[in-house]
Amino acid sequence: MDIIVQKYGGSSLAEDGQLRAVAQRVARCREEGKAVVVVVSARGKTTSQLLARAGKLNSNPEHRELDMLLAAGEQASASMLSLALHDLGHEAVSLTGPQAGVKTCDAHMNARIKTVDPERMLETLEEGKIVVVAGFQGESPEGDITTLGRGGSDTTAVALAAAVGAGRCEIYSDVDGVYTADPRKVPDATRLSMISLAEMKTLAHHGAGVLNERAIDYAIEHGVTIVCRKAHGEGGETIVRAEPGLGRSRIVGVACHDELLQVEFDESADHENLHERLDDLDIFVPELAEGESGRYLISIGQLADDEGLANSIREEFEKGVVVGGPIASVSAVGYKAGSEEGAEDIARKELESEGIAVHEVMRFEHAVTCLIDCNAVERAMQIFHDRFEITDTEVADVA
Ligand code: ADP
Ligand code: ASP
Ligand code: MG
Repeated sequence: MDIIVQKYGGSSLAEDGQLRAVAQRVARCREEGKAVVVVVSARGKTTSQLLARAGKLNSNPEHRELDMLLAAGEQASASMLSLALHDLGHEAVSLTGPQAGVKTCDAHMNARIKTVDPERMLETLEEGKIVVVAGFQGESPEGDITTLGRGGSDTTAVALAAAVGAGRCEIYSDVDGVYTADPRKVPDATRLSMISLAEMKTLAHHGAGVLNERAIDYAIEHGVTIVCRKAHGEGGETIVRAEPGLGRSRIVGVACHDELLQVEFDESADHENLHERLDDLDIFVPELAEGESGRYLISIGQLADDEGLANSIREEFEKGVVVGGPIASVSAVGYKAGSEEGAEDIARKELESEGIAVHEVMRFEHAVTCLIDCNAVERAMQIFHDRFEITDTEVADVA
């Protein structure tokens, strides 16, 4: 079987017309003879709306119950796409994450995929049917439904591609690939034709929301190539693949975290429990120095309930822990940004010369980052984008 895995994000399924257009695209693939697995996200802003409604009913909702609620958003999408495919004369079967064999850990609201049992999907494909899977969800060891954290449908798609042996996973969104910066913030950003999985991981870690960082981790671990394309209208693509030499000495783009929660601690804090409390989250900068003071920076965008988290930390850790912020980060990403002499000085100087206060400069292996005020993010992105030399690598260069 020639299996193809495609994922369509929520913004590409918001209107009924968009959902029908996605059904047509999927149908065309099937008509070309491919076996198709489609992963879908909740339509439009469904997830955020469900969270807001839960918050109105209960100021401190239990995460298990939230998972039950949020998973319904993706399930509705899967069923609706399946219905639209039937209307086009195709056989399609919608499956929840658990029905598709997605097993996760038990960290409600931010679970990690442990394994995927592809048997039911493969049987359904063998019968000639299109498989439509609700992204962003799985089943915990206790048999409860879990969700994978904001943006988690990307991870479902990569995990399913690995499980059914597709080798390549197509991710469709409202942008036709990975750009040198978020095109909403930097209008003259350009599309990259290729980016290595390692570079993409760093870009995602530093805040580029076009692909979920955990999806990249999964792709690295299981050797999956990702192709990013636009769901509607004409456009190009970006190939994200394992390629050790790819872009080794370039800067690939700039990224930012619009808002970071700062959890600061001193030597009197209960480090072990604080670390455990935050363990399920994806921490942007963990700086845990045993017995000393330090700080965690956590992207607020990934949190379902940042105020709830801040309040619960304040309540649980009365001594030595201060929740502050928010603060923002802007990063130049690429091996070169992390290795070039003086990159920190350049980063600081470029922002300060434009009147942007730099609270701190940090150097990582593949990035240089400035912490700045939240209201300066867009200007700082544009400045980094203008001043750092960003290079694309053509497919031919690495073939
Ligand atoms: P979906 O709903 O399909 O999952 P997302 O909103 O998660 O889509 O991701 C697409 C968005 O990612 C784009 O609209 C864009 O604003 C944003 N984005 C952030 N950084 C980048 C980047 N480097 N390249 C392209 N898009 C980016
Ligand atoms: N619907 C979920 C979210 O809004 C998952 C996803 O879109 O990938 O975060
Ligand atoms: Mg997304």
